[in-house]
Amino acid sequence: MVDGAPYQMISAPVLSPTLTGWIVFAARLDDREMRALERLSAIELDAQVFDRRGDAWLTTDQGPDSAVLAPFVAAAIQTGAAAPGHLKTAAGDDLVLVKPLKSLDGQASAALLLRYPMAAALAPYRPLMAAVVIVGLIGAALVAAASFGLSRGLSRPIIALDDAARRLQRGEDVHVAVQTDDEIGRLAGSFNLMAAEIRDREARITHLALHDAETGLHNRLALERAISARLATLAPGEQVVVATLGLDRFTFLRGAIGYSLATELVAEIGARVQAQDPRAVVARLTTSTLGVVSDLRDLAAALPLIETAAGSLEAPLRLGGELIDIHLTHGLGAGDATTDDAARLVEHALIALDQARATGRKVAAFDAVAYGDPAGNLSLMSEMLEGVASGALFLNHQPKLDLRSGAITGVEALVRWNHPTRGMLRPDLFVEMAEETGHIRALTECVLERAIADQQALFAAGHDVLMSINISGRLVDDLDFADRAIARIQATGARMCFEVTETAVIGNPEAALGVIARLAAAGIAISIDDYGSGLSSLAYLKQIRADELKIDKSFILTLDSDGKDALLVKSTIDLAHSLGMKVTAEGVENRESLGLLSLMGCDIAQGYHIAKPMPLAQLTAFLDAWSHPAITDEAQSA
Ligand code: C2E
Ligand code: CA
Ligand code: CA
Repeated sequence: MVDGAPYQMISAPVLSPTLTGWIVFAARLDDREMRALERLSAIELDAQVFDRRGDAWLTTDQGPDSAVLAPFVAAAIQTGAAAPGHLKTAAGDDLVLVKPLKSLDGQASAALLLRYPMAAALAPYRPLMAAVVIVGLIGAALVAAASFGLSRGLSRPIIALDDAARRLQRGEDVHVAVQTDDEIGRLAGSFNLMAAEIRDREARITHLALHDAETGLHNRLALERAISARLATLAPGEQVVVATLGLDRFTFLRGAIGYSLATELVAEIGARVQAQDPRAVVARLTTSTLGVVSDLRDLAAALPLIETAAGSLEAPLRLGGELIDIHLTHGLGAGDATTDDAARLVEHALIALDQARATGRKVAAFDAVAYGDPAGNLSLMSEMLEGVASGALFLNHQPKLDLRSGAITGVEALVRWNHPTRGMLRPDLFVEMAEETGHIRALTECVLERAIADQQALFAAGHDVLMSINISGRLVDDLDFADRAIARIQATGARMCFEVTETAVIGNPEAALGVIARLAAAGIAISIDDYGSGLSSLAYLKQIRADELKIDKSFILTLDSDGKDALLVKSTIDLAHSLGMKVTAEGVENRESLGLLSLMGCDIAQGYHIAKPMPLAQLTAFLDAWSHPAITDEAQSA
């Protein structure tokens, strides 16, 4: 410090050759010197020199910040800080470095302060920062735009595929138009292929579901659909008419020409029907039955139409080099939506076909009355089984008169059913049904049980009669039934005759003949019932070892009026006798017939003229009263 102002000094010894003095150079550290120092710096420095006056640090360069800077210098000197520090001034944030200046006396009485404002330091980076921000923003925008575009490019085809898959699921015809060259494009290609395959397969399945595989004709389902469609569009008063065409003697025909030609035949007839009416739907319902629905709206118009068409439909057909005769039977069902549905109409037409065949007609319309109520029949059967258990089924007995002795030597047990709501039912109604529904065995076992009991009751009342029961044809080949019946009869010592209808034996000859032989060996009399009503054959008479031949009542009822019947009955009696059988005539309704039978040598007579079937109590009274019968006298005199 010289005169209170700081100087920078440098001294050098003057040697000649001994030290003669010092030379000292000094430069005042004033504002001008400071500006020169500032100019030397590459950055915009602000240099100031502070000097100590007592405890205070003063500067010559009294700026606005001196008040803040002086304490900073004092503090820096005190702590001896060598690194720059931060200082907040009015202008902003500054970087400040304080350096104590050496003095001649070694006391730090001056300090250099270098100040650099942060604002100035950062200024060059501002545009850079802005550029970075702008580039960043632009980059982010680009990334966003690119990913948006990319995702749209990716998701649009996927959405299209998803939509197509949904439509495919709904059964629509779909094709996705994605033509990109990437995985999605390939996926779309595969999808289209798959959709096409599904379409084809569906078409094939639909075709299979609606067509008969053998003939290519429509099937029942297709026919029912066509009927339903027509039912839906009927005007009031109109009907949908369904026709069935049955190929007669088909099994025989198939045996003769083979399966494949027979099928071809059915297809050919279908084609003929279609040619008659191109708008009709022709379907195969069973192997040998076709069903047809046309636009015909009136059953009455259908009958003459079928008759005129029959000629061309039945024209002989050349198949495999053979000319084949064709015979068709037709059934018709008709109805409207209020009463019928498609399935019912088809069923009616099929039943009508059966009805036509059963009655030997070429065409028949469904006859509901003749058909009855099959559902009711089934419930009738379960009721019958209950009746067997509860005793609602019982027996009436019809006496059998020995024409030589004039005695009642036997009775035929005929089943009766006192139905809880329907009243007394005739066996015709439920016996056949029991045969068809497999309940005949239970019924017959019940009848046998009661017949044995009734016979014992009669015996106890003093009447020893042969008890005849009817054995259905369906049961006569049932070995198990036969064994149980034999066991029951032998256990009770009953005297039984089994009346078997001849048709049954013919139906299953071998088993039935074996069973009959076993029954006969067990001491049960065998009677051939209804002889002459079925397909009687001499071979049958030869094979079966029966004790009795029962001439069917159809011959006896008209015996007195029809000369042919008389002839047939007479020769049958002779034939049976020569084969060692007794002859019973059933259906004897008057004294003339009884007389004729007696003359012809018939052994036993049964019929209303002698007695009607009657309950056990009445029968006992009847047998009691049967002494020296006037009827026998009558017969003998006739
Ligand atoms: P069927 O064995 O030929 O029995 C004789 C049928 O002719 C009886 O009818 C009887 O009432 C009737 N009949 C008797 N005399 C005369 C007559 O002089 N004139 C006329 N017109 N008819 C006469 P039913 O009792 O109605 O029996 C009908 C058929 O039912 C029987 O024919 C038999 O095949 C069957 N049936 C009856 N009971 C049984 C049974 O317990 N089991 C089996 N499997 N069938 C039975
Ligand atoms: Ca009988
Ligand atoms: Ca009979």
